[in-house]
Amino acid sequence: MFDFVVVGGGATGYGLALRLAADADAAAQVALIEAGPLWSRRRPRPAWRWPTVAQPGLNGRAVALVAGKGLGGAAAWGGAAEPPPAPGTLTVLTDALAVRVLLQGRRATGVEFHRAGLVQQLQASRAIVLCAGALPSPLLLMRSGIGPHAELVAGNVATRHDLPGVGQGLQVPVHVAVPLRRAALALHRPAASVHLALEQPASRGRLRLEGKDPYQPPRLDPDLLSERDDLEALLHQARLALEGLGAQGLRAARPWAGPLSDLALERLLRERAEPGPGVAGGCRQGDGPLAVVDAQLAVQGIAGLYVADASVLTQLPADGQAVAALVGPLAQRLLSG
Ligand SMILES: Cc1cc2nc3c(=O)[nH]c(=O)nc-3n(C[C@H](O)[C@H](O)[C@H](O)COP(=O)(O)OP(=O)(O)OC[C@H]3O[C@@H](n4cnc5c(N)ncnc54)[C@H](O)[C@@H]3O)c2cc1C
Repeated sequence: MFDFVVVGGGATGYGLALRLAADADAAAQVALIEAGPLWSRRRPRPAWRWPTVAQPGLNGRAVALVAGKGLGGAAAWGGAAEPPPAPGTLTVLTDALAVRVLLQGRRATGVEFHRAGLVQQLQASRAIVLCAGALPSPLLLMRSGIGPHAELVAGNVATRHDLPGVGQGLQVPVHVAVPLRRAALALHRPAASVHLALEQPASRGRLRLEGKDPYQPPRLDPDLLSERDDLEALLHQARLALEGLGAQGLRAARPWAGPLSDLALERLLRERAEPGPGVAGGCRQGDGPLAVVDAQLAVQGIAGLYVADASVLTQLPADGQAVAALVGPLAQRLLSG
């Protein structure tokens, strides 16, 4: 029996587990369950690849979202420093896939996970904290029977707590690389493509269960470029980039000959747009009907269960600090509770 079980050893999870385990007064027994391996310099880095459904905003193309997998999470993937070693009171289980939260009535009591081909469980006497990231955390809640009732029924999962906001409000950045014509670049050394980026898109998507099987990918619909404002912002950036090329005498490097109508430019942007790294939303913090966690990151209506990762954010973080900032106050609350 542990005091705390943390799921996911990424930007928030490993930091939180270290904080909980390092408090000498609390002397808490902490377990961390991480689906990926220990941090290493091995390349390529292990990663999650989440396929989406066909995106109308991308001319019907399906794409994939990518996230880091392993101690350090996406931050390690992005080249962050090696995380500090775990103290004696922290039990780190790597290559362990959490599949659901165990509930007794409206209280979370443990986590079921798969490791080395075995189904195992860990019990927590004080709290379970999901730090698995913006797609896995809402998915774990839904597989545990916590989520929108109709979607749980469709996914063949018995509803333990109807929470309509789980899996809703996903925000995914959009990047577009428009290649330039190489022949025209022979005398210059600019980038070979023009990069456009929407880091705070207005479009929001959703995640649905396809079934109980933890290895079955969810139905992921980020609904990229569904809001007209997003397209307008990209069109504006593209026009500015074209003007910039003209001003630098690089008109011939433009990826198309002659003038391009707004409609043709829109089609081109929709054809080339891809999801950027990072996702926010899915377990929104706040109040109102679609809130999943409260101001203290506690899951509404379920005792002993918290979410602390990018899924609670209503907007993509401007930098890694917004996610890491969740750790301190939550550790304090858990240790004093
Ligand atoms: C390539 C790349 C570049 C990025 N660049 C930036 C940037 O420049 N600035 C910025 O602010 N953000 C950036 N991000 C996003 C940023 O890394 C994330 O916002 C941040 O890491 C989210 O932290 P997190 O704790 O929510 O999840 P993560 O760091 O993704 O950690 C989640 C962890 O949980 C584990 N996990 C998932 N499911 C399970 C399960 N079922 N059981 C057990 N463990 C599980 C995962 O393996 C992972 O280790 C980037 C992301 C990527 C992928």
